[in-house]
Amino acid sequence: MTFITPVQVKLFNEKAKALNVLPIKVPPPYQKLVQEEYAALGHLDGPLYRVVYPTADRLDLRTAHEVPDFVEDQTNMPEGLSNVLIHKYANRALFLVTDKCAGHCMYCFRQDVLSDIQGNPLPPLEERIDRVLAYLGKRPEITELILSGGDPLTIPFRKLTSLFERLGQETHVTDIRIHSRNLVFAPSVVSEAVASLLGQHQVRIYIHVVHPYEIEEPMVAVIKRLQAAGVRTYSQFPILRGINDHVQVLTALLRKLDALRSNPINLFIPDPISYSASFRVPLKRLFRLVDELYWTTGSWTNGVRLVLDSPVGKVRREDIVSWDEGTGQVVFQRQGKNVVYHDFPAELDKPGELATLLWRG
Ligand code: SF4
Repeated sequence: MTFITPVQVKLFNEKAKALNVLPIKVPPPYQKLVQEEYAALGHLDGPLYRVVYPTADRLDLRTAHEVPDFVEDQTNMPEGLSNVLIHKYANRALFLVTDKCAGHCMYCFRQDVLSDIQGNPLPPLEERIDRVLAYLGKRPEITELILSGGDPLTIPFRKLTSLFERLGQETHVTDIRIHSRNLVFAPSVVSEAVASLLGQHQVRIYIHVVHPYEIEEPMVAVIKRLQAAGVRTYSQFPILRGINDHVQVLTALLRKLDALRSNPINLFIPDPISYSASFRVPLKRLFRLVDELYWTTGSWTNGVRLVLDSPVGKVRREDIVSWDEGTGQVVFQRQGKNVVYHDFPAELDKPGELATLLWRG
């Protein structure tokens, strides 16, 4: 069944392009999951639908103080490496290896960079790798490189091999981390050869999964394949309204990830970026959710941190130095630097209902 007609897709994608929002892109296995969800629910408010298709309020619900780039990725891109490298921390850099993802997530926090890239094609990958390696080669303090995107596991095996070899020969990078959602959208990209390559270079993978029903057998098989090859797997995800904003959903997801030895490092407060309102949750409810998670699960969840990514790095509840309940302005402080955050208004908050969020029962 089609949930949205080709004309509606075209209309949304045209609007999305004008607003720097990602167009609809749903890989076939995920489409199948959404179909199963629709058959169970009989309506289109399900969590998996919300991940990849626009809901009615997707472009209409706005809040004050939304910005295109809350974490200021753009201002931390060195000269000549615009949309290619983000260097925010002294010892760590993030290489946007590709602007391609196997599917598009409606809530994506990097919409701005990706949609911007899509309007301005990147130079060929080899050229970008040359530039990044030249930059890293001159900075011995950078010892950790995060490969992100887009999804780094969309790049061809031969290029991935060459990148890893050159990182070892031409830079001081000792730790490579990959952030990937392809394990959900297109797990078949992780062949035995890819797993073995990643294991050989002692890569860490942070799996991005937002709902327990996204963990299907092909993904489980791939995680096991990676681990057998020596890859260390972790996870991280945002808490999103109407997708996973209930303690039972978070518990189910954490239990599945724990069974896969891929415990989350961070749970993210959604960035207040443009057109993010349909996924945001007020801070008080987020804090309550995470407290409830800690209180109702084993102590193995207590290490999972709820964080807000910010222009000065990740900040947490204990970093709040002021909170104006009237205006919703919250100030976090890290290493003497303030981060001003405008909370999502409680009156716009419609929490996800458990029967919809966990429709398999
Ligand atoms: S896969 Fe990641 S980068 Fe791509 S759209 Fe989804 S969240 Fe954004």
